[in-house]
Amino acid sequence: EASAELRRAESLIRSIPDHPKPGVLFRDITPLLADAAALRATAEALVAPFAGRFDAVAGVEARGFLLAGAAAIASGAGLIPVRKAGKLPRPAAAEDYALEYGTATVEAHDDLPGGTRVLLLDDVLATGGTLVASRRLLERLGYEVAGVSVLFEIDGLGGRETIGDPALHTVFRS
Ligand code: AMP
Repeated sequence: EASAELRRAESLIRSIPDHPKPGVLFRDITPLLADAAALRATAEALVAPFAGRFDAVAGVEARGFLLAGAAAIASGAGLIPVRKAGKLPRPAAAEDYALEYGTATVEAHDDLPGGTRVLLLDDVLATGGTLVASRRLLERLGYEVAGVSVLFEIDGLGGRETIGDPALHTVFRS
């Protein structure tokens, strides 16, 4: 049964206190990825609410890549990597965003036609800064962002409000 499988998958997310710095409770999805049934159930749960409404998934480097690969195969979609600055050979657009200290940049190629419907995926939603920048990036490339789907939503950091998207779906939350 799907929800029992998802509850088991959730139990495989490991919480690591004070990583990568004091005060952060790091949500480590690698035990979930390592489990075949949990990986399949979560890949399917990420895309299910958006069935028939997207042609490609976009995954945010690095853990979003892993989920996007599985989700793309599970849903018959293509895959767009949203990379950190300096990794892609010919980025078509770049989008800066603020971190707690300093800034970061996401980049992507424009290998699909304008108007392609894209579902944006990542592992964890914290403040929402990464996903907002990634969504802006995809929109600047001419894609239609069909929704944002995240495996684990951390409550209390304002991420849901920052994204402000009725088409935000999260599979698990703290
Ligand atoms: P944010 O932009 O603040 O929403 O942060 C989201 C990005 O940082 C995602 O790509 C996550 O992989 C990562 N991240 C932030 N907080 C955590 C956390 N507590 N555990 C694991 N990853 C996190």
